Amino acid sequence: MNTLLIDDDPLALKLLTRQLERLGCVGVQQCERAEEAMTLLKTQSEAIELVFCDLQMPDIDGVECVRHLVDIGYSGSLVLVSGEDGRILKAVAKLAQAHQVHVLGVLHKPIKNGQLSELLASHAARKTVPRRADQGTFEPAELARAIAGDELIVHYQPKVALDSGALFGVESLVRWQHPQAGLVYPDRFITLAEDHGLIDALTLAVLAAALRQSRRWRDAGLDLQVAVNVSMDNLAALDFPESVAQLASEIGVEPSRLVLEVTESRLMKDVRASLDVLTRLRLKGFSLSIDDFGTGYSSLAQLRDIPFDELKLDRSFVHGAAGDASLGAIVEATIAMARQLGMKTVAEGVEDQADLDYLRAQGCDVAQGYFIARPMLSADLLRWRPAWESRRCESAATAA
Ligand code: C2E
Ligand code: MG
Ligand code: MG
Repeated sequence: MNTLLIDDDPLALKLLTRQLERLGCVGVQQCERAEEAMTLLKTQSEAIELVFCDLQMPDIDGVECVRHLVDIGYSGSLVLVSGEDGRILKAVAKLAQAHQVHVLGVLHKPIKNGQLSELLASHAARKTVPRRADQGTFEPAELARAIAGDELIVHYQPKVALDSGALFGVESLVRWQHPQAGLVYPDRFITLAEDHGLIDALTLAVLAAALRQSRRWRDAGLDLQVAVNVSMDNLAALDFPESVAQLASEIGVEPSRLVLEVTESRLMKDVRASLDVLTRLRLKGFSLSIDDFGTGYSSLAQLRDIPFDELKLDRSFVHGAAGDASLGAIVEATIAMARQLGMKTVAEGVEDQADLDYLRAQGCDVAQGYFIARPMLSADLLRWRPAWESRRCESAATAA
């Protein structure tokens, strides 16, 4: 692996090189001046996979360094190193991500061997993960056909109670099984559906599939609360609550078993209509969840105006909150506020045991994330469940 270190302090360079070599890295190159580093990167831009960059150097700071990496089209990963305040370090990382530079991590000086080896492991893992299907755009007519036909499929991701670990419900996540492009994720077609008047048909298709699945689970003795994502655009149709209620009653699912997760990714077109629709959904007995809380327009104003009964903490606050004072403060305050408002809290993006333990200690109610399970086909859920049961018993035994 070709690695380049940029730091004005020769001692820091030597130290980090030695640490990396002990961890099995070969071909570590060093630059004391950023200018020199950029020239080197320009000539070897394909070969260098990993750049460690100090945030504070006399000729250039971290922000400028990120800008230069963008200008030369650097396509590898970046590790930011600094003795600075963690929040500054993270601000630079965010900036780099906004420029589409992949930030593998941030390291505080003095760099610990454990952190370094974790970073290298995640770099290696990243290289072996197949990337999602190539980006490209789809035609609205093609999506309309997919919705009307049978190309949309629904994956289910488990939500578990944090106190007992018991399976509590699932979130339904739509995918498009495209005949040429393969499995396409919702970030590539939800906006398209919203922009071309297809979102009502899409939501009803997902709702119908999820309700039927919920019925099948119940018939098999598994009583799960099923969540479905609804777009803000769905709430412009005043008869949306009636359509949902009719579908649920036809399929034979109690309204209390359905949660509608509302994300507001853009400004509400018609505030009165959505308030009307959301309130009537609650009156009909459905649950309402505010999704991605803390990002975009999912904010305190929504909590004030709309009778949500569940709050989903956005994953950007969840993963790593145990070891990060700023994230921790946000998570703890949000949980306390939700409790005072009588709302249930769900944390999404739980990616490791530390996340899970931390959320449990903070009194969060429900957890969802890759650490528990990835979204999966309904058939796989039945196989996942016993495996999770034994995992949670093991973890309870070690915790005790
Ligand atoms: P969301 O509702 O916030 O769903 C959670 C997303 O986070 C899912 O991505 C899920 O796969 C992913 N996720 C779950 N656990 C983890 C984790 O531990 N780490 C990380 N990094 N990610 C995790 P997905 O399936 O790609 O869905 C993206 C978004 O698309 C959803 O975000 C939701 O807003 C939207 N979406 C999905 N299905 C539908 C749908 O049927 N209708 C509408 N309107 N939107 C949908
Ligand atoms: Mg959701
Ligand atoms: Mg979310």
